[in-house]
Amino acid sequence: MSGRILIVGASIAGPALAHCLLQRGFEVTVVERAPALRPGGQAVDARGVTNEVIRRMGLDQRIRAACTETAGASYVDRNSRRLASVLATDFGGDGYIAEIEILRGDLSRVLHDATKGATEYLFGDRVEALTEDADGVAVRFASGIERRFDLVVGADGLHSSVRSMVFGPHADHVRHLGHYLAFYTVPNHLGLDRWALGYSEPGRTAGIRSIHDAMAFFGFRSAGLDLDHRDLDAQKRLLRERLAGMGWEVPYLLERLDDAPDFYLDQCAQVRMDSWSRGRVVLLGDAAFCPSPLSGQGTGLALVGAYVLAGELAAARNDHAAALSAYERRMREFVERNQKMGRAHAERYCPESRVAIWAEIQVIRAVRHLPGKSLLMRPLLTVVNGIELPDYPVPAAS
Ligand SMILES: Cc1cc2nc3c(=O)[nH]c(=O)nc-3n(C[C@H](O)[C@H](O)[C@H](O)COP(=O)(O)OP(=O)(O)OC[C@H]3O[C@@H](n4cnc5c(N)ncnc54)[C@H](O)[C@@H]3O)c2cc1C
Repeated sequence: MSGRILIVGASIAGPALAHCLLQRGFEVTVVERAPALRPGGQAVDARGVTNEVIRRMGLDQRIRAACTETAGASYVDRNSRRLASVLATDFGGDGYIAEIEILRGDLSRVLHDATKGATEYLFGDRVEALTEDADGVAVRFASGIERRFDLVVGADGLHSSVRSMVFGPHADHVRHLGHYLAFYTVPNHLGLDRWALGYSEPGRTAGIRSIHDAMAFFGFRSAGLDLDHRDLDAQKRLLRERLAGMGWEVPYLLERLDDAPDFYLDQCAQVRMDSWSRGRVVLLGDAAFCPSPLSGQGTGLALVGAYVLAGELAAARNDHAAALSAYERRMREFVERNQKMGRAHAERYCPESRVAIWAEIQVIRAVRHLPGKSLLMRPLLTVVNGIELPDYPVPAAS
């Protein structure tokens, strides 16, 4: 298929797809609701087959140059005494701390830099209406611009409005996993050097890690709430409320909340859909198949999905229906296995009792010293490598 493709969303999936499409000669427009590329977010990981996709995208060096280089992490008590630690090298680069670990905002910037010369980016705008006919999709933007495209890709995240416009309401597809997560930049007041600290109390957890200054991260158990995902004040109130009375460095970190340049809070959820495309509209990344941040694979699925979708669109030439069904066929099992892993991680995250916290610390302590501990990584490696990547050709001129 040749032609003009509109991608909605300029975080990870959107610019990654733009890159793979540009390599194959497509004309690409990306529309992003935010007025500029959004900074922020915790470190995201590339594991298993995702590293191969990054290599085939030709971005390996640029992404590695922007990596966090986290050396390890420790579980601490309320007095910052280290109770158990893991090193990045403990599990050969695919463990808790992956070999390629990069701040979400930095990865987004690398992908944007790689594509901005040849892609039309429309920041501060969004799609208001989509009307499909026999040869394309007529799109009306909120700014009033009207344009036609051959295909529209919703890469607009967990709260995708392309999904709700074309596939039905949020509640039909989003499954809450019982937690909320929050992240923001803080001063590195503990002088951490490439290290992360985590502290838990029943049902809630907090941490700080030294990337750029330092990044605070929090998780707490909660049923799904009726929370506007764009109302930052309400989200900050919620975080303060749920972490009230928590020990360790939490009061200091909460005092920095109002100065945070990049506060991010969201529910921990999965998107599950029977089909990721309808006519000439297709979903990618979290919009289609968010596995939840607790899977550690949201970015991986977005990058692998971008590679497969672009490859199939190029291979099918003008038959978009064949391309979209091949994208779905190749990705479906990989997505489901990663989502299953995400649900398993969510069950264990933020242990609900002091005994469960104590048990988790003992496991972390013991595992590091086990002979043959890399065998423990086998199930994870099977999941993160669980797709056969076709070798989609890239024309020599790109
Ligand atoms: C600011 C931010 C911080 C994040 N922090 C973390 C983190 O710390 N840990 C983690 O695991 N995951 C985080 N994520 C999610 C993570 O990026 C994704 O799970 C994963 O990388 C897949 O990315 P995605 O591009 O599919 O979706 P997302 O990264 O969610 O990106 C969706 C993009 O679409 C844009 N958008 C939304 N609606 C519209 C619309 N109507 N029109 C146009 N554009 C729209 C959004 O502004 C965003 O840029 C964060 C996402 C964002 C946006």
